[in-house]
Amino acid sequence: MDNNQNPTHSLPAPLVERVRHELRRRSLTVAEVTDITPGMRRIVLTGEDLADFVSLAPDDHVKIFVPAAEGEPRRDYTPRRYDSNARTLTIDFALHEAGPVTQWAIDASAGDTLSIGGPRGSAVVSASVTRWLLVGDETALPAMGRRIEESDADTVITAIAAVTGPAERQIFETKADLYMHWADRPLSDATDARPLLNILRSIGIERGTFVWVAAEASVTRAVREYLVTERSYPLHWIKASGYWVKGKADTTEKFD
Ligand SMILES: Cc1cc2nc3c(=O)[nH]c(=O)nc-3n(C[C@H](O)[C@H](O)[C@H](O)COP(=O)(O)OP(=O)(O)OC[C@H]3O[C@@H](n4cnc5c(N)ncnc54)[C@H](O)[C@@H]3O)c2cc1C
Repeated sequence: MDNNQNPTHSLPAPLVERVRHELRRRSLTVAEVTDITPGMRRIVLTGEDLADFVSLAPDDHVKIFVPAAEGEPRRDYTPRRYDSNARTLTIDFALHEAGPVTQWAIDASAGDTLSIGGPRGSAVVSASVTRWLLVGDETALPAMGRRIEESDADTVITAIAAVTGPAERQIFETKADLYMHWADRPLSDATDARPLLNILRSIGIERGTFVWVAAEASVTRAVREYLVTERSYPLHWIKASGYWVKGKADTTEKFD
C-alpha cells in the first residue's frame, strides 16, 4: 500500500511534551502486597519521600533498586498509581522465572524496604489525542491499565494484551470507551508476536490513533514492523519499546 493512503499520514505529528523531573532517590516501605491475578503481584509502597513524587505520563518509569548480596540490582517499573494524600505508590510486578527484582517482589512482605529513582522525565502526549491503540504483554499492562483508567469520556481506546490465560485478564475501570482484547499464550511463547498480530489484523485503526506498543523486544519489533509495512502507519504516531529481552537480564530496547 502507498504510505500516503493511510489517512493518519495527512495529520501532523502529535504533540509530545517532554518534561524533566528532579532525579532523586526515595526510600520506601512496603505497605501492602496482593496478587491481583496469579501472575501479577501488586505492591503498595509508602514513605514521606513520596511527598513530592511526580509522574505525569502513564508510561513513565522508575528505577527500582533492591537489596542483594552483591551489587544493587535496578530495573525499570511503571508507577501504576500514585496517591499524593496517602503518600502511596503502587507498582505491579509481572511474575516470571525471576531475576533479582521479580524475586524481591515474590519474597516481599509489609515492612520491607527498597528505594526508587525517578521518574527522570515524562513524555506527555497531547490531550488532543483521543484515540489510542495499546498493544503489549504482561510488563506493559501497568502502563496500559493506567492509560485506560486515567482517560476521559471522550477517549476511545483499543487494547490488546498478551497474557497466559483467562485468569490473567484484569478489569479496568474507565470513563473512556474501551475495547479490550486478550491474546492468550504461555509465557514460554512470550517472544511469539503472532497471538497479538492475529488480533491486530482484525482491527481497524482510525485516523489520528496514537499507537503504543511495549512487550518483549522481538515482539515489539514485529508489531511495529507490521504497522509500518502492512498497515502503512506513520512512525510518528507510534511509540514502541522493548520492555525486556528474552535471555538477557536488565535489558530494554527503544525503537525510534
Ligand atoms: C519503561 C519500562 C517499564 C516497565 N514496567 C514494568 C512494570 O510495571 N511491571 C513489570 O512487571 N515489568 C515492567 N517492566 C519490565 C521489567 O523491567 C523487566 O521484566 C525486568 O527485566 C525484570 O527484572 P528482573 O530482575 O525480574 O529480571 P532480569 O534480571 O532483568 O532478567 C532475568 C531473566 O528474566 C527474563 N525476563 C525478564 N522479564 C521477563 C518477563 N516479564 N517474563 C519472562 N522473562 C523475563 C530475562 O530475559 C532474563 O533472562 C518495564 C520495563 C520498562 C523498560
